[in-house]
Amino acid sequence: MNNNKVVVVTGGNRGIGLGITKSFLQANYNVIVGARNKPELDHQNLTFQYTDVKEEEDHIKLSNVGIEKYGKIDCYINNAGFSEWRPIDQIDDQFLTNILDTNLKGAFWGSKVASTLLDKGGSIINISSIAGKRGSSNNSAYVASKFGMNGLTQSLAKELGKSGIRVNAVCPVLISTDGLIEALKSPYAPASENPEEFIKEFSKTNSALLRMPTEDEIGKMCVFLASDNASAITGQCINIDCGVLPQ
Ligand code: NDP
Repeated sequence: MNNNKVVVVTGGNRGIGLGITKSFLQANYNVIVGARNKPELDHQNLTFQYTDVKEEEDHIKLSNVGIEKYGKIDCYINNAGFSEWRPIDQIDDQFLTNILDTNLKGAFWGSKVASTLLDKGGSIINISSIAGKRGSSNNSAYVASKFGMNGLTQSLAKELGKSGIRVNAVCPVLISTDGLIEALKSPYAPASENPEEFIKEFSKTNSALLRMPTEDEIGKMCVFLASDNASAITGQCINIDCGVLPQ
């Protein structure tokens, strides 16, 4: 049974974003996915719109799909992003611009467009990272993008609260997506030899639960944050990390 609610998920075609898409479909939402590649998943309540999150105009087109098809948007999720480890002396203008424009500017444009369309009770969810809470070596560009995303979250919660719009972030730790595995293969990453082994070892030594979270667990938290059950929660950047960074 469709619940007539509408969620936009950037990067909802694979990895964590696909986990989010599936969780909202399970919760009977209409899901609009914005990415550069079509999702393989086929579902009657899933609509795809080509989107490059770096472009404000693309967020407008993406939102318009929701407005034209369903008349409204209830939740906008800024998930699209990537990580790449590089030491400071290897960071050039092109690298920095690409990572900040995708991870941070993309969330700005998504939030800006959503703020004009969401009604009272609507919400914005930013997929940040534990990297938005603490720094790590060879990771300054990505970490800065995610600290920025948490700052955006806190500020917009204050700014949009009077309109009844809530803004939250979730901060996952390592989740073995294609994107993460690729990034971990870099010689500057902490695990270039064997990413899967690194994640296993990290789970044993850093996680209270001796494991890492799943895409599904991120998706379920997003469904909760979008729901009326979370009506008093705004401005929070919530770790989903199996107890890696208790706060
Ligand atoms: P993936 O590489 O598996 O997926 C990245 C997603 O972002 C894809 O759907 C991709 O779609 C989309 N994307 C990337 N660039 C753009 C762009 N310019 N325009 C539109 N879509 C874009 O990564 P993850 O699933 O691992 O990461 C998803 C989010 O979660 C990111 O923001 C990441 O920083 C965050 N995160 C990931 C963690 C992890 O351990 N995996 C931990 C903490 C946070 P397409 O290429 O088709 O455009």
